Amino acid sequence: MTRRGARVGQALLVLGFALVLVAVVEGRWWALAAALGALLAAAGLVLSPLVRSRVRTGGRAQPSDFPHILDVVRRAHGGLAAWAVGLEHGEIEVAGAARGGGREREDDAEAQLHRGAAIVQLASVDGRVHVARQAGATFVAVGDFPYGAGLLLPQPDVSPGVAEAAVEDLRRFVAGMRLAELEQPEAQAQLVAKQLGALAGGAQTLEGIARAGAELAQQLCQRGAVVVLQEQTTRSYRVVALSTAADTRLGGLTLSDGAPVIRAIQSGIPVVSRAGEDIFGPGLPERRRRDREGTAYPLMDGHFVVGALVLVGPSIPQEGPQTDLVGRLILELGPRLVAAQAVHEAEQRAVRDPLTGLANRREFERVVYHFRQDAQGGGHEPATLVYADLDRFKALNDTHGHAAGDAALRHVATVLLSQIRDGDLVARIGGEEFAVWLPRAALHEGLEVAERMRRAVETTTWRWSGTPVPITASCGVASYPDPVGDVMNLRAMADAALYRAKQAGRNRVEIAGGSR
Ligand code: GH3
Ligand code: MG
Ligand code: MG
Repeated sequence: MTRRGARVGQALLVLGFALVLVAVVEGRWWALAAALGALLAAAGLVLSPLVRSRVRTGGRAQPSDFPHILDVVRRAHGGLAAWAVGLEHGEIEVAGAARGGGREREDDAEAQLHRGAAIVQLASVDGRVHVARQAGATFVAVGDFPYGAGLLLPQPDVSPGVAEAAVEDLRRFVAGMRLAELEQPEAQAQLVAKQLGALAGGAQTLEGIARAGAELAQQLCQRGAVVVLQEQTTRSYRVVALSTAADTRLGGLTLSDGAPVIRAIQSGIPVVSRAGEDIFGPGLPERRRRDREGTAYPLMDGHFVVGALVLVGPSIPQEGPQTDLVGRLILELGPRLVAAQAVHEAEQRAVRDPLTGLANRREFERVVYHFRQDAQGGGHEPATLVYADLDRFKALNDTHGHAAGDAALRHVATVLLSQIRDGDLVARIGGEEFAVWLPRAALHEGLEVAERMRRAVETTTWRWSGTPVPITASCGVASYPDPVGDVMNLRAMADAALYRAKQAGRNRVEIAGGSR
């Protein structure tokens, strides 16, 4: 049979699958299904030569590790099984450990696998996203003719967020299949640019673009990929995005001096980790040797190095299609990241205090305002507000100078941050005044945090020019709904409590509404 013949056959086969599936799933839509089927058949016949004419046959770069990557995607979403169709060398099905439960269960599982494969076939032809909830599970499938990929999630009613996340990863996977099967360098180069745009989607956020870059690098090289950028304000080097196959513990990490990645950024030359060395530098959690080695490629914007794309694992061949593609990706990624970073930093400036990096007053007000909206909407979660004001801070400034005062404020910010949990907020709301917002904390708990903070400020030694300089803070604590019944009164009550703490001699904590 000719290739075109084979494609026609395949399209018809898929159409058959699709119709059977639609018939099973939504019997009452038979008429519509038939019409759709006809359309799909036509589309399949027209599209297949179009798609294939762009591809030379023979000698094609082989996507060596798609089953592995698909399995990573499956595991990342807790899926029971995953499928990929449309690749030159056959379809892929990966399944998790079989669930126990006798013959009937096995038959059910078998039926589910068939159904999943059929939904993926359907998606590969119609190019749409399918989220089908049935028989105690959810199928998610994405297609881009002739490629398709899908997941079987164990929950019967996944939230839209969970489904969207799965769709996102499947889209990337499908994009990778198409890329892997294209051979001409020019087509590939154009496609890298196009895919990067498509993967980043409308989102122009720093995280979105960096994540798309990492994901595309993973698809191109079948290795975990990580994007590291230098922050403009702090000058520190931070992991901003990971691909699905990279170690999630790296997320958000600030790299320490001596990391090979930093060497690559500072020198502008790709750096391969030396034997036994961690590409992300010293002090990281112990990982397998394979995960510690890697290659860091500088990301450039014009002549400036702005960060690095790190491919985890053994380095790719110095010459060859993968290297060309990664080179192309790096060229595309650098300027886009710089543009996104500028926007990101402008946004951060709007909500951050530049001296300490804490939230600013406006951001603090916004968070309290939102809490108030929720409380009015019937939310009954408690919350505690702590105001902290440094004691006799004017004297510290007068004795050691303004620069010392600034350094002390940064020190206190770090101490306060070390005492809170996820979801809490520390803001600098005035010169040497801080607000700590503790959602879900009732009075006794908020009081504990405030006391812990006071003690930490007092006992954490801070030095200026090598000399220890004592710092203490006074705190006022107010809690909603008990004893302060209106969220809008929390600030005034915390302020009054703080005033009393100062009156009573400083370096102490007082609560709103009277005695402790
Ligand atoms: P207390 O709160 O214990 O009553 O005494 P205090 O000396 O801290 O009181 P006050 O609030 O009157 O003074 C605050 C001082 O904090 C004034 C100023 O010297 C210092 N300050 C405020 N903002 C900054 C800042 O951004 N940097 C530095 N270095 N100092 C600041
Ligand atoms: Mg003060
Ligand atoms: Mg003050």
